[in-house]
Amino acid sequence: MLDVLDKSKKILEEYALCDRCLGRQFSNLATGTTNKERGASIKLVLAMNSTLEKEQINIELLQNLSKTGAIFAKKTLKKIGCIPKETQKCYLCEGKLDELEDLVQKIVKAINEYEFESFLIGNVLDNSLYIKENKIKDKFGLHGTEYLKQEFNREIGKKINEITKKKTDFNTPEIIIECNPFSSKILEIKIRSVYIYGRYNKYVRTIPQTHWDCRNCKGKGCEKCNFTGKNYAESVEELMAKPVLELTKGEKAVLHGSGREDIDVRMLGSGRPFVLEVKKPKIRNIDLKKLEEQINKEANNKIKVNNLRISSKKEVIKLKTKSQQSTKIYKAIVEFENLVSDETIKKIEENLKDKTLNQKTPTRVKHRRADIIRKKRVYEVRCKRIDEKHVEAIITCEGGTYVKELISGDEGRTEPSFTEIAENKAECVELDVLEIKEQ
Ligand SMILES: [Zn+2]
Ligand SMILES: [Zn+2]
Repeated sequence: MLDVLDKSKKILEEYALCDRCLGRQFSNLATGTTNKERGASIKLVLAMNSTLEKEQINIELLQNLSKTGAIFAKKTLKKIGCIPKETQKCYLCEGKLDELEDLVQKIVKAINEYEFESFLIGNVLDNSLYIKENKIKDKFGLHGTEYLKQEFNREIGKKINEITKKKTDFNTPEIIIECNPFSSKILEIKIRSVYIYGRYNKYVRTIPQTHWDCRNCKGKGCEKCNFTGKNYAESVEELMAKPVLELTKGEKAVLHGSGREDIDVRMLGSGRPFVLEVKKPKIRNIDLKKLEEQINKEANNKIKVNNLRISSKKEVIKLKTKSQQSTKIYKAIVEFENLVSDETIKKIEENLKDKTLNQKTPTRVKHRRADIIRKKRVYEVRCKRIDEKHVEAIITCEGGTYVKELISGDEGRTEPSFTEIAENKAECVELDVLEIKEQ
């Protein structure tokens, strides 16, 4: 088996590599040093070996070293009357590993406008480089050693760290900078979203949870939507977005709710859990108390948020599953087609106590949801008569239950229902969510 020196000698016979690129081929040997030191040390020992015997100086080796820019090789050659060969560009990095200043300055300038604590450098190299590098590794049996890509990332990262004092984070960096060191270009800057958890109340029956694109123009803006591109002038999402974008200088805010209420349904009690995602924020550390006040002030009692805290992407995913497992309490005003008796009211309460519903996707949402049968649990229904045809019902049920259909029966698509049990056409004329209880 060839040792480090023999291998290096053979590599340099074919390829002019800079100190870093030669040293990197042995990155798995001797820790606690740098590739540059490894490479320079190997070259120095090779030069010393080549001059061991005065009568048999290895001029060819010294010339190969001279091609890589080794000063001591050049000087030795001159001393014995030879003209040293000119330094060539490194076969792999083309010298770019030592010319990162320009790119680093560009990066520092570009990320300067963002507040962040951690970052990660990523780079995109031409495929031909991998082919070149792998060819050398294969030919000389250099496996498990570092690649140029890794060295670029580390070197650029080190310089950014020195200037900004921010740390590299491989798992959850707040900022990712993709660059191409060969063209000295920044390709993309990815900013981690800021996630804010809270609960919201909605006190009006006219605004949807999130903004809906106009069906006619799909958001482009047309006469039908008054060139807003939206179906409704405002939404819970937009009422939160404006203040949060002002504070974070973010690009966009997206509301992830734990379930959603219909436009005409109020959300009362302690509110619906949500996570507000702020995309591309320039400011990450914001005063949540101030944000809460600002949202509530601007929303003018249409909505209200409370208990804001910093959250994560993970919680968005959790929110969706939790919503299906939560218990929800509703207050519905039910209107019957014909007079409704006290016995019937009692029958509704009894028949719906701890009952599993079979709910086919409601007719009104069939166009945008899969047509399937959902099994949902109703725990309790408590009714209070308002007048001959109207009843107030407090319904406790599993998250994801279609309450309007539990009342109407939706032409038999929900079983059982108020209509079916009462044998009297029932309809929900007003609905409020009173409470959402999460396990
Ligand atoms: Zn190199
Ligand atoms: Zn439109």
